[in-house]
Amino acid sequence: MALPLTALPGADSVDDPSYAELIAARPSLSVDPVAGLMLEEVSLARIAAVVGTPVWVYSAGTLRRRLASLRAALEGAGLNATIHYAMKANDNLAVARVLAAGGAGADVVSEGELRAARAAGIPASAIVFSGVGKTERDLRLALAEDIFQINAESAEEIEMISALASSLGRVARVCLRVNPDVDARTHAKITTGKAENKFGVAIGDAPAIYARMAALPGIEPIGIAMHIGSQITAGMSAYRAAYAKLADLVRALRAAGLPVSRVDCGGGLGIPYRDEIAPLPEALAGAIKATLGDLGLPVMIEPGRWLAGPAGVLVAQVILQKGATRRFVVLDAAMNDLLRPAMYDAWHGILPVGAAALTAPLSPADVVGPVCETGDTFARGRAMPALPPGSLVALLDAGAYGATMSSTYNARPLAAEVLVDGARFAVVRDRQSYEDLLARQRLPAWLSP
Ligand SMILES: *Cc1c(COP(=O)(O)O)cnc(C)c1O
Repeated sequence: MALPLTALPGADSVDDPSYAELIAARPSLSVDPVAGLMLEEVSLARIAAVVGTPVWVYSAGTLRRRLASLRAALEGAGLNATIHYAMKANDNLAVARVLAAGGAGADVVSEGELRAARAAGIPASAIVFSGVGKTERDLRLALAEDIFQINAESAEEIEMISALASSLGRVARVCLRVNPDVDARTHAKITTGKAENKFGVAIGDAPAIYARMAALPGIEPIGIAMHIGSQITAGMSAYRAAYAKLADLVRALRAAGLPVSRVDCGGGLGIPYRDEIAPLPEALAGAIKATLGDLGLPVMIEPGRWLAGPAGVLVAQVILQKGATRRFVVLDAAMNDLLRPAMYDAWHGILPVGAAALTAPLSPADVVGPVCETGDTFARGRAMPALPPGSLVALLDAGAYGATMSSTYNARPLAAEVLVDGARFAVVRDRQSYEDLLARQRLPAWLSP
């Protein structure tokens, strides 16, 4: 960092990382003394000028680097592992294509994601279909495409898959998702591996269901799967506990003469949004090796957030600042764009984009969107410089569960998406037009004006 960044005066957010710390921890970000905040070699102000705001901007280099370091960690631990990117984190075709080019397969949870994965160039032979309520239509497409693996989440679903595959003259390769009943100690809305959660089958029921699966026509049982939650930063203990239970289950299934040829270890690895000490991929690889390594089976992981989260920013423009006693910075981005603060009380770093603003004196501000909900607040009491109308800010780590969770609430069109790759950038999804926004609505003839 060449520029001296102003230290934060006493504010609610006194423990927040400084701008310099936020930038230093994110290798794709830098500051140009003239152009201001850069993602790789492209000025975010330039993208905003060309594409408008709000705009999601993704770094191809970050996606590649993170995928490569995850693979290196798995290989370093001596694991025979494949990586299946969880498309729900960011289903933009360009993002998925960058990851596909790096050798990632996909984990999909809907027909739409399966189609997106295929459109991005991910081969069917590298696709896993997860989800607690796959429809017959979802399963038909999965079978027609002959995707690599379907993760079944209930005895009922297994009967459905068997009947459907048999009627189509196909054999579905199925992993049984078990619920290991461990607490991943993450936000309650994204905990998925406790007995009270809707996901998977109870681990105690798994042997009988697996045996049933092996007896049914149209199904080739290939292994077991789990996914205990998302944004897991509390260390490896929950993963280890869950994987140890999976290892015991595999041994029991084998002892019963049932075929098990792989273990799907799920996703969930967390990232530091603020100052969380997130586990490194080496820790995950080590936990898998220590618990499942003896089985000698290929393993799979399904990371979403860890790959895509740090690769994206949401660039927004300041509409106005208001408030005499409490300063509100009102952005043109809102909760309909980035839902995570409203939905999970999530903290996102917010950096001014302008070079001067990055070194200006700071004072506390509530950074909010224009939507008619108090929950439409990105940050409270955050140290921000003066941000006159037209100033730009970047909300950090918005590459996962950002655009994919957007809505058009308040009749706000979906924002544009841009991919940066070195010194190049391209719009990878056009901003939704107002015509598009209304295009699918119909007025019945009997409602004459
Ligand atoms: C959401 C999900 C993932 C990805 O979770 P991340 O926290 O983004 O890594 C992986 N597998 C399944 C089954 C999921 O539902």
